Amino acid sequence: MSETGTQTTKKNPTQYISDQLSELRAKGVAPKLRVLEGEQKPVAIFDGREVINLASNNYLGLTTHKALRKAALDAVKRYGAGAGAVRTIAGTMKIHLELEEQIARFKNVEACVVFQSGFTANAGTVSAVLGKEDLIISDELNHASIIDGARLSKATIKVFKHKDAADCERILQEHAEFPGKKLIITDGVFSMDGDIAPLPELCDLAEKYHCIMMVDDAHSSGVLGRGGRGTVDHLNCHGRVHIQVGTLSKAIGAMGGYVAGSRDLIDFLYLRARPFLFSTSHPPATVAACQAAFSLLDSPEGERLVKKLWANTKMFKRELKKRGFQFKVSETPIIPIHVGDAAKAFEFSKKLFDAGVFAPAVGYPVVAEGKARLRAMVSATHKREQLLRAADILAEVAQPLGIV
Ligand SMILES: *Cc1c(COP(=O)(O)O)cnc(C)c1O
Repeated sequence: MSETGTQTTKKNPTQYISDQLSELRAKGVAPKLRVLEGEQKPVAIFDGREVINLASNNYLGLTTHKALRKAALDAVKRYGAGAGAVRTIAGTMKIHLELEEQIARFKNVEACVVFQSGFTANAGTVSAVLGKEDLIISDELNHASIIDGARLSKATIKVFKHKDAADCERILQEHAEFPGKKLIITDGVFSMDGDIAPLPELCDLAEKYHCIMMVDDAHSSGVLGRGGRGTVDHLNCHGRVHIQVGTLSKAIGAMGGYVAGSRDLIDFLYLRARPFLFSTSHPPATVAACQAAFSLLDSPEGERLVKKLWANTKMFKRELKKRGFQFKVSETPIIPIHVGDAAKAFEFSKKLFDAGVFAPAVGYPVVAEGKARLRAMVSATHKREQLLRAADILAEVAQPLGIV
């Protein structure tokens, strides 16, 4: 075009994006995506290099389990590659309902709805159940999908100090006359430090102040409780939590999220949860893989895998402590190594990678500014030698950086 010359001299409306990006890169806080070649395994090839993988949420090794692969392949053969519609139009396949019934039985609740992800399960549910006249009381370290769901609901949002039931009660007392509905919401396991919510105390408050109680068990599904039934089972809060969210994307090894609760809650979400209404349902392969995962969790093999996960976690933490690392708050296979400065955390992670261990650094906006850390995750499928070697490498790399 003849006007090209004048157009290039005009100010580019997206120039600020390039400027901000350059700034982040100059600060050393814009890590590149690591690219996995092949399978998500305890030792895997990222960016062409074989590394001990402490980065995935594949707690039980189910992403590559033969029962899940087979189920997925069979489903593709029988039903094809996609669902073809949203659930409320023509995209509810029989296997979607079978999976929901299976999860409801597993969680020992009346009913369950499966969403495309844990993120949409949280965001879609909070915004469907609460409205602008309501109050959401939320732990300060709750997952982004809870925060986004709370914002979408337009409810009043009050944040209590992390895991602090007394602070939660202070907010409830201050809102004693609040006319709308109230929701107390917490992660079951907090994803950045691996600590567990004070669920029994929060349930006490929910009962005392007539609140809806909701827990997001993304990092506890398949990890905590009998056969990985979650924090409600682990902390014996059966019947006290109205809305339990879980993910199918972490320990379950496939993709998706779910809400477990009363039949009426689920039937209501079928009508009002926006991701359910406006986004296409899972492809058959994903549904079938999840079905296979829950069958496995419900079997002796599943229980064995969960036990192995915890044995590996204890062993790895012990070995890291021997080498001078501290991670006081972690109670789960999520092991945070606090660094503080984001650029330093990213440097730590990069040097570790070069030495053969993949453990990602997380900085702002995933955690607060100045609270950057390395996050190492253990799985049931790591071998003892791999974890010992990883602990040695972590110590070797951390020492010159003054982290340990
Ligand atoms: C990972 C995670 C989610 C999102 O789950 P996806 O299935 O990956 O979308 C939600 N909540 C918490 C606490 C998480 O850690």
